[in-house]
Amino acid sequence: MKRKLLIITLLLLSASMTLAQKVRIRVFADTKLDNAELRASFGTYELYFNDTIRADMKRNSKIELTAKGNTIRISLNDSTIGRYTKVKLVATGLKCFFSITPDGNEKLKRMYDDDITVYANSNSLILINEVAYDNYIAAVVQSETWGATSNVEFFKVQALCCRNYMYKNLNKHAKDGYNLCDDVHCQVYKGRANKPEVIEAVYKTKGEVIVDNSNSIIETPFHSNSGGETLAAVDVWGKDVPYLVSVQDSFSLASRNLLWEKTIRIRQWQNYFKEKGIDIKDSANLVEIMSFSQKDGRKKDLLGVPLVQIRKDFGLKSTFFSVQEWGSDVKLTGKGYGHGVGLSQEGAINMCEQGYEYWEVIQHYFPSCAVVKEEDLK
Ligand SMILES: [Zn+2]
Repeated sequence: MKRKLLIITLLLLSASMTLAQKVRIRVFADTKLDNAELRASFGTYELYFNDTIRADMKRNSKIELTAKGNTIRISLNDSTIGRYTKVKLVATGLKCFFSITPDGNEKLKRMYDDDITVYANSNSLILINEVAYDNYIAAVVQSETWGATSNVEFFKVQALCCRNYMYKNLNKHAKDGYNLCDDVHCQVYKGRANKPEVIEAVYKTKGEVIVDNSNSIIETPFHSNSGGETLAAVDVWGKDVPYLVSVQDSFSLASRNLLWEKTIRIRQWQNYFKEKGIDIKDSANLVEIMSFSQKDGRKKDLLGVPLVQIRKDFGLKSTFFSVQEWGSDVKLTGKGYGHGVGLSQEGAINMCEQGYEYWEVIQHYFPSCAVVKEEDLK
């Protein structure tokens, strides 16, 4: 009887393993690597060379890979195996993870869940981690937000945003042969998650996504702090997205990134607008440039110059600023940090700490949207 139960359990486990969908992420995408050591840290792996030749890789076994042109020189536990064009490590259990140490540099060592395939191209290793969706999402949430808080409810908010991003961008690197990279270009992914709060948040929101009122998975941009009012996508990126609208956001008003100041020479400030074709001899224009105010709410431009452009040109933390004369300078006093569209992370943390649930936070920042189970969309 016991044996029968064990067989059934094993069958169920292997079924859930094959069901676990995986995403292909290029790791160390920003680094040119000609050598890497991979070590089975937990669980047993199967090794495949050029898809056909197989070896076992027990816990703590290591494999060393060196790119030679478009091939990889391989040694397993210090014994030379040969040269192949492709190496694959396949996990044999539900929980398996391995480490990658690039170029013998222990400081750059990172741990990853699940499988990996390695190719070589022009003396460089291409490392593609095939990782279960939720393992990837937990790792991204930890990479991008750990340190700001340890609030599980907030990690649920971030988990949904990361899951949405993943689904929306599965084809971003299709031409390169994988789904996403591990860099800011896609989502920052610097190794597996190990914080229990983060893993719990991802597990408890398994399969949940954010959709608009036509049941389409939405884009979920986020920024550090809205300054008290978020911006519509059309006012920042010039593209109207019906669910990325401006919302009043008092939750962002009590955070460390709320206020900022910057002083700029009066001459530099006035010349900037002159170069933009504005007649600064006109006294009404001059008054507006020298005492521009957003104290009563966010504006989109200053005498026709988009605030997003001014933010970029002067390296400002946000577009939510007012101007006053300050000796031979102008002083810009601003609120918020980041582009201002979508979710304000500091506002969301405050909401969660006040007891709001993750779906309430999401509905606050994406007002016409809802949290649904992905399977209900099919
Ligand atoms: Zn990318």
